[in-house]
Amino acid sequence: MADLDATLAEILGPRGWLSGSEADSYRRDWLDRYGAEPLGVARPASTDEVSRLLAACRVAGAAVVPQGGNTGLCGASVCGRAGGVILSLARMTAIGDVDGAGGSVEVEAGVVLDRLHQTLGSSGLIFPMHLGAEGSAQIGGLIGTNAGGSHAARYGMMQDLVLGLEVVLADGSVWNGLRGVQKDNAGYQLRRLFCGAEGTLGIVTKAVLRLHPAPKGRATALLCLASADALVAFGARLRSEAGEFVNGLEFFCDLGLDLVLKNLDGIDFPLESRAPFYLLVELTASSAKVPLDEILEEVLTAGMEEGLVTDGALAQSEAQRLAFWRLREEQPEGQRLEGTQLKHDISVPPGKLARFIAEAAPLCEAILPGVRLNPFGHLGDGNVHYNLSPAAGAPDFAGHGQRFAVELGRLASELGGSFAAEHGLGRAKIALANALRGAVERDLMGRIKAAIDPAGILNPGVIVDPVLARQNVS
Ligand SMILES: Cc1cc2nc3c(=O)[nH]c(=O)nc-3n(C[C@H](O)[C@H](O)[C@H](O)COP(=O)(O)OP(=O)(O)OC[C@H]3O[C@@H](n4cnc5c(N)ncnc54)[C@H](O)[C@@H]3O)c2cc1C
Repeated sequence: MADLDATLAEILGPRGWLSGSEADSYRRDWLDRYGAEPLGVARPASTDEVSRLLAACRVAGAAVVPQGGNTGLCGASVCGRAGGVILSLARMTAIGDVDGAGGSVEVEAGVVLDRLHQTLGSSGLIFPMHLGAEGSAQIGGLIGTNAGGSHAARYGMMQDLVLGLEVVLADGSVWNGLRGVQKDNAGYQLRRLFCGAEGTLGIVTKAVLRLHPAPKGRATALLCLASADALVAFGARLRSEAGEFVNGLEFFCDLGLDLVLKNLDGIDFPLESRAPFYLLVELTASSAKVPLDEILEEVLTAGMEEGLVTDGALAQSEAQRLAFWRLREEQPEGQRLEGTQLKHDISVPPGKLARFIAEAAPLCEAILPGVRLNPFGHLGDGNVHYNLSPAAGAPDFAGHGQRFAVELGRLASELGGSFAAEHGLGRAKIALANALRGAVERDLMGRIKAAIDPAGILNPGVIVDPVLARQNVS
């Protein structure tokens, strides 16, 4: 490994190869659960450097772990075993010219999402990916996890926003698929294969991203909902009456609101009454002539008459709109600040969301009485972050963490959904995948990995792990 150290220092130069304490801030994952000691952190400045680095690591048999903003929640952006090379794309940050007519832009993988939003600014186009971590998450990491976020029901997940890719493979060869078209059926959908591959099949160095027209009209409301059933029924009504305008349909529960108000400063709750669930509704249109306020008010009034909506307010200013969104976006932070937590990234068909919530509660109570349930998420695509805090006054989950994950994942599967909606498997959920997904599916993934990265140097221990595959989870 001393040889590799010297080779990488030579390929990357002093700014591009960090070791010792310089590598400290890259070591541990966001939730501080994973992170073995790396050989060092590579910070290449070009695709050519990534290619030469991979060729050198392949010869040395060293693991390469790509890292973007390191906000992933499944432990996939740090080393599983000591001695690997963390490959940070943070120096590859170029944003190309916007193709206004075609609605696309070419970017390097290290571009932070928030910076892309700012750069598009007044171009009349948007990149419609938004999530709580957008101030740090990078395009490469978003592609690596196939991120979803708050507008996925309308615009799709990352795989739907990627038109073309440049990827460096494990042997250092470069696949140039930087095309800017939606329609490209020239064989297997390689660009999609790398979306959600969590750095196990190749290093994304550039992407052509699909842009959408910027909204010129917007109406946003925060609502109180009488129950989970009411939440689902109101969501369905809104989609059937204003479907093409629904830009956000985000929910959280009363415990989540409590945790945000208790643990974060500068947040107010603007409604007069409290309720079991809250829903943030946002309609947008690319024409300012669409009467969005009217449309939203009409659906709201009908929802109130039916007893689904018990209180609500329309945002009267941009500041109020942002304050509504903040209540939703701070849900993860409100719970993190409360202390120990368990996160479950569940999806079910949207019509079955209330059933999942109803059946999950007694299941959790049976495992650990008093455990606090904090479901929140994306109503439009049935994605519920079914997060738990220990019972009031209890320090932890008394060793039941895996049991919660398996039983909630099994319930989601029975309802036709997934235990890994938008955060991926990483290192954290491989055992769960082996328990809840069929052998044919798991084997197919193993064969894809073996075909594309036969030496197994790219992010080993993520998505597929031959050792864990032999273990059983119940
Ligand atoms: C507060 C908060 C809110 C969040 N909200 C959401 C949400 O609403 N929706 C959602 O989907 N996620 C959400 N996440 C999770 C996280 O932000 C996303 O998974 C994001 O896509 C990770 O991007 P990143 O740049 O931080 O990637 P990292 O965490 O650095 O890496 C993630 C994965 O991508 C791989 N990777 C990184 N760069 C590359 C590359 N160039 N080529 C190939 N592979 C690469 C890594 O190896 C790893 O497997 C949230 C996280 C936090 C902390």
